[in-house]
Amino acid sequence: MSGKTVYTGARLISGEHVIEDAAIAVRNGVIEHIGATSEVAPGDTLVSLAGKTVIPAIVNPHGHIGYMRGTTTDATFYSRSNVIDHLHRLAYYGVSTFQSLGTDRDDTEIGVRDDQRRGALGERDVAQLLTAGSGIVAPTPGETNGGPFFATDVVYEATSVKGAREHVRRLAAKKVDAVKLWLDDRSGTKAKLPPEIFAAVIEEAHSHALPVAAHIYTLDEAKAAVRAGVDILAHLPRTGTDDELIAMLKDRNVAVFTSMSIQRPPGEDWLDEPAITDVLPCDAVEGLRATIRERGPVPLYDTVDVYRRMEETLVTSAEAGVRLVFSADSGLLAQIIGVAEHRELEALVAAGLSPLAALRMATETSAELLGLSDRGVLRENRRADFIVLDDDPRHDITATRRITDVYLAGTRVDRDGLRARWQESNGKLD
Ligand SMILES: [Zn+2]
Repeated sequence: MSGKTVYTGARLISGEHVIEDAAIAVRNGVIEHIGATSEVAPGDTLVSLAGKTVIPAIVNPHGHIGYMRGTTTDATFYSRSNVIDHLHRLAYYGVSTFQSLGTDRDDTEIGVRDDQRRGALGERDVAQLLTAGSGIVAPTPGETNGGPFFATDVVYEATSVKGAREHVRRLAAKKVDAVKLWLDDRSGTKAKLPPEIFAAVIEEAHSHALPVAAHIYTLDEAKAAVRAGVDILAHLPRTGTDDELIAMLKDRNVAVFTSMSIQRPPGEDWLDEPAITDVLPCDAVEGLRATIRERGPVPLYDTVDVYRRMEETLVTSAEAGVRLVFSADSGLLAQIIGVAEHRELEALVAAGLSPLAALRMATETSAELLGLSDRGVLRENRRADFIVLDDDPRHDITATRRITDVYLAGTRVDRDGLRARWQESNGKLD
C-alpha cells in the first residue's frame, strides 16, 4: 500500500492551466504529482473522475460568519455552533478558507480559529476560519453606528486616536488575521471615522504586521483610505473610479475586493437549484423569493445604476491591472454562506471577466492575499483542496454549483451526511 491516491481522467483547471485527462496524485493531503492519466503507476489507489472537471477549492477573504440562519441574518442567531455550522456549509460548497471581516462577537471566531489551528476543534468537513475580530467604526451620537446592521453592538466605536490604537493592540494580542474599519457614512446617515483616527488604526496595525481592510463607498473615501496606507479596499468605489485612484492602487499594490454579488440584482432562478433546495428549509427559500420579487429588478442593496457602474469599474480596473481579489461578502442579505461564493463568480463573469480569470481570482489570488502559500492552486506540494464538477465552468460559470464532490486536504467531504443532517433539522423547524 503506497498511501497514495490518484484521481484520474478529469479535466483539470487551475490558474491559466487546463489539463485534459489529468491525474492528480495525493499523499497525506498534499498533491504529490500532477500529470497525464497515462503516466499513473500500478499499485496506486485509483479514483476515476472521468468526464468530470476539477477546480481548486475557493478561498473567500471577505464574509461575515455566524449570523445567518436559513435566509435570515440576525444577531440573535450568532453562536459558536452557528459559526461551526457555517464552516460545514462552506466545506459543502467547496470553500476551503473563509475570512470573517470585523463582526466577531465575544471572541467566538478567535476561539474557533484557535481551536482549529491547534487541531482541537473536533469537527471534520469544515472550512478553515480566519477572522479580523471586532472591526472599528465611528459612533453616531443618539443612534446606532454605521457598522453592519447585525453587528452594530460588537464593532468598536472609536472616539480618539488613543482608544483606537489600544483597540488595535488588543486585536494584535489575539493575533487577528486582519483589521477591518468602516470609513463611509452610509449614504449620509451615519458619522464618519475622522481621518486622524483611521490613519492611526492603519499605522498601529502595520506596526503589528496586520493588514487593514477598509469598507468604503465613494471614490473620495477610497482615495483617502489608500493615502492613509490601507492594504485592502473591501468594496469597489460605488461612485466609479478614475485614473488617479487606479494609479494609486497600482503604485501601492492595494488589493480591491470585488464584492459584486451582494449588489447585483439577484433574480430568483438560482433559488430553484439543488444547491439551494437540497440544503435550505423551503420556507426560508420562499421568504427570500418573496423579498426578491418585492424589489423587482432592483438589487437588495443600492440601485441598478450603481450596479452597472460597479461592473464598469470592475472591468476598467481589471484592464488597468489593479490587484482585484475575489470577495463574496457572504452571510447577509441574499449572500447565503457557501452559495454567495459561487454567485460572486457568476457576477464576475456577467460583468465581463473570463471564467478562468474569475476562478483564478477566487483561488490563487485570494490565497496569495491571505498569505496561504499551501493552497489556491492545484500544483505539486500544495494542499489537495479541490472541487469535482459535473460540467466545465469555462462554458457556463454556474457549473461551479453543480458539485459532485469536494476534497479538502485530500479528504472527501461527506456531503451526503451533511445534507442529511441539514434536511433533518429543516424538517424539525417546520
Ligand atoms: Zn462585508
